[in-house]
Amino acid sequence: MIFTPAELPLKVKQWGKPLKAMLLKLKAKPPKNLDDIFQKYHDETFRKIDCLDCGNCCKTTSPEFFEKDIERLSKVLKMKPGQFIEKYLFLDTDGIYALRSVPCPFLSSDNYCNVYDDRPKACREFPHTNQRKMHTQLHLGAKNAEICPAVFDILSKLEESILATLPKKKEF
Ligand code: SF4
Ligand code: SF4
Repeated sequence: MIFTPAELPLKVKQWGKPLKAMLLKLKAKPPKNLDDIFQKYHDETFRKIDCLDCGNCCKTTSPEFFEKDIERLSKVLKMKPGQFIEKYLFLDTDGIYALRSVPCPFLSSDNYCNVYDDRPKACREFPHTNQRKMHTQLHLGAKNAEICPAVFDILSKLEESILATLPKKKEF
């Protein structure tokens, strides 16, 4: 079942400890085919979800802007990198450039990205569920499941598949 963005924070809270335990376990001892498993569930989920009907990531969170992103976008917008930073970004406490405000100023009302071809690397990779070395991305899972219906669905499938491999309890 695909939940709406509004339903996700409560659903993740209700999932709670088992979700964190699953992600920790996978990180500590990832199966060899973890990347393939994620890719399969990612493809299945995105056959059911159209990001243009959602846009919740662009509405509620900021991507990280790397130097190359800033250079590329400021060029496209015919601005100097310093002007781009001053207008759109701030340096957060971790030393990362992020948007001054959300929704993203490049998001249009129909959920299209106005700088799609030149969007930041972090936007291209979001929701980080079909990358190589997925065991290094698992820390993002619970956080992103709170904002992205696709991540919640993919992690639910993952949990189901893991539970299916556990030995059944003996019935007396
Ligand atoms: S990546 Fe997730 S949160 Fe972003 S638009 Fe697609 S489904 Fe929505
Ligand atoms: S740059 Fe585009 S894809 Fe990235 S957050 Fe903004 S609207 Fe979304």
